[in-house]
Amino acid sequence: MPVSRRRFTGLAGLWAALAGLPAWSAKQAGTEAVSDSGPDSDVSNLKAPALFIGHGDPMNILQDNSFTRDWDALAMRFADAAKPRAILMVSAHWETTGVEVSLAEKPAMIYDFYGFPDEMYQQVYPAPGAPDIAASLLQAKLSQQIRADHSQGLDHGAWCVLMRLFPKADVPVFQFSLSRNMNAADHFALGQELRQLREQGVMIIGSGNITHNMRSWQQDYRMGRTHIVHDWAKYFDAQITERIDTGEYRALADYHQYGRAAQMSVPTPEHYLPLLYVVASAYEYEQAEYFAEGFEAGSFSMRSVLFNG
Ligand code: ZN
Repeated sequence: MPVSRRRFTGLAGLWAALAGLPAWSAKQAGTEAVSDSGPDSDVSNLKAPALFIGHGDPMNILQDNSFTRDWDALAMRFADAAKPRAILMVSAHWETTGVEVSLAEKPAMIYDFYGFPDEMYQQVYPAPGAPDIAASLLQAKLSQQIRADHSQGLDHGAWCVLMRLFPKADVPVFQFSLSRNMNAADHFALGQELRQLREQGVMIIGSGNITHNMRSWQQDYRMGRTHIVHDWAKYFDAQITERIDTGEYRALADYHQYGRAAQMSVPTPEHYLPLLYVVASAYEYEQAEYFAEGFEAGSFSMRSVLFNG
């Protein structure tokens, strides 16, 4: 059953709701200076990046491979840059009926995988939540009704990548669910509405994979075996990349146009949809930067894209 929808009445509500929030941590490069004097009027200096990360195998958190080295390189750049006020995380691994936002003050760890080594279940990411910013979304006039969830923790699509990108766990994180009741165009539209969070220093991270077909994912890749990348995965990844390079972001919601390649690459939408939130939050003048790319086990595209204009 579709969720009830409110008529979209503009972004003023979200903007106003955010205006009363405390200033984000305005760390300048090489300093620890923190501003408490309210939002800076020079928003261009405050805008936080948006990025999509192909997370792949949860075991990447324990690995040293080409993908994790690329993630670590981005983490070093983030460590030298202004610290975001908070992170809004849209992960493939939190799906709900209707849109929910987590107001958890201390998001718990969710070990939402099975049969992994004990070490995976001992990982902890103690970042605080951001209930004030999350609550502001409940008051905003958005195209979708947003519900509060007071207990949702961090799923592995969230913490596995946050551990690499922000290893100090010192940036508040709140998660935004993927509603099963919305089509891809609805997700894109909601992503556009969330874009202004970036102007308030909130980094938007989407965590998934552009191609994600578990049936063709070969587990022995973990043993170092290499696999030939499936043609459908290469084709789909290339088409999506071209749409991004040419700024045709809205067309990314119409991914079914790629026929069988889309069916094989996106057999279920949850790993693809986080990309839409990120491209929808990009500005026209921003250039996409691919900070990781390639395929895992011949099947998962690990392409990761950053907008940091
Ligand atoms: Zn996943």
